[in-house]
Amino acid sequence: MISSFISDVLIVGAGQNGLALACGLAQEGFSVQVIDRYLIKLVSAENSLRVSALTPGSLKWLEKLGINFNDFSFFKSMEIWESEKNLSDRLHLEAKSSEIYLGAISHNDLLQRALYQKACELGVSFKIANPLEIERNSSSIKLITDQGVFESELLIGADGAQSFVRELSGIKTVFKNYKQKAIVAVIQTEKPHSQTAYQRFLPEGPLAFLPLKNSHQSSIVWSCSHKTAEKLMEEDLEMFEKKLASSFDLRLGRVSCLSERQSFDLKHHHAERYISEKIVLIGDAAHVIHPLAGLGLNLGFKDGMVLINYLVKARNQKRALGSWQMLSHYERERKPHNLKISLAMTGLNDLFKNAWPEVSWARQQGLQWVEKSAWWKRFFLNEIES
Ligand SMILES: Cc1cc2nc3c(=O)[nH]c(=O)nc-3n(C[C@H](O)[C@H](O)[C@H](O)COP(=O)(O)OP(=O)(O)OC[C@H]3O[C@@H](n4cnc5c(N)ncnc54)[C@H](O)[C@@H]3O)c2cc1C
Repeated sequence: MISSFISDVLIVGAGQNGLALACGLAQEGFSVQVIDRYLIKLVSAENSLRVSALTPGSLKWLEKLGINFNDFSFFKSMEIWESEKNLSDRLHLEAKSSEIYLGAISHNDLLQRALYQKACELGVSFKIANPLEIERNSSSIKLITDQGVFESELLIGADGAQSFVRELSGIKTVFKNYKQKAIVAVIQTEKPHSQTAYQRFLPEGPLAFLPLKNSHQSSIVWSCSHKTAEKLMEEDLEMFEKKLASSFDLRLGRVSCLSERQSFDLKHHHAERYISEKIVLIGDAAHVIHPLAGLGLNLGFKDGMVLINYLVKARNQKRALGSWQMLSHYERERKPHNLKISLAMTGLNDLFKNAWPEVSWARQQGLQWVEKSAWWKRFFLNEIES
């Protein structure tokens, strides 16, 4: 007999975005079913290598969802620079007061696990299943999977960059290969990070040191060409550590790796539509951006927050959750914003990779100008905090 599962909302993808959305919807009283191919990984924290910088806006949302911040490391300032020659071209942003933070670093798998536990407490149902096809009728949508049929008013694709929900909906994406890889690792530094997130722009891409709870540990994201990344991955440990420290201008002294190195291809995807009949996309299923400002997950969280508002509105107005009008509002609110950020990240990446002397001069002037301008600094701080 084929099993069938009925809920108000079905979410495909139990990544951080799918789970945060599931918690938010369950808090609003919706019945929520989540399916993922690999739910099993949620119970182990073995892969805590990847971290995300979270903005104050995301932190507020996580707090509302009931997530505790014990595993997070908060940072109070940011430092951005390009050249090792000139100290005055550093941009330093500081939180407005000692109690306020510019953001926090969270371990992806730990946050995913915390969200999973919260979703279970809130009554969200989980199932390991592989989607196969969809069937729609006038009032619901059915997802046929290898574990049975899941029927709901709305199907949400939170299934990441290679979204199968997006493919099933026939939604195309605009794609750009940055021809870069990002190397990530956890490192020990000789000097303390002083709760500062650092980013140095190198000719092949940015190198970020993200401060962890231990004041001498950071997580690195080193973006560079495929060729350089492959070399760095093959390099023996001592040589890798030397190159890392010197590429970082020895800003935090000598470094040593505490974890293995992992590398990821960097790509930009943007779905041409975020919605299809009774289907909506959030997070990386809708947009994948360059990690240089650490915004990808934050944008996905915001997608979730906005979508919940429209679904609550739909319910209050006695409309179907998959109502085209409500879904269109969501798309109109999120797509232009995400696109703007995504293009800005691509532009910044290209700008800092450009080796022309005129462009290099203009970049350094720009950083110095912002550094000296109280108004621009305030503007950036307000943007980060909102
Ligand atoms: C190097 C790097 C550094 C980054 N740093 C930051 C940062 O500092 N701050 C930040 O905000 N963002 C950052 N990001 C981006 C962030 O990691 C992603 O935006 C975020 O993890 C995406 O989450 P998601 O839940 O949308 O997708 P995913 O994490 O990809 O989750 C998708 C889920 O769907 C499931 N799934 C996939 N296909 C199927 C299927 N067919 N059937 C069932 N289930 C399926 C998967 O198993 C998975 O659980 C970074 C990205 C990279 C590459």
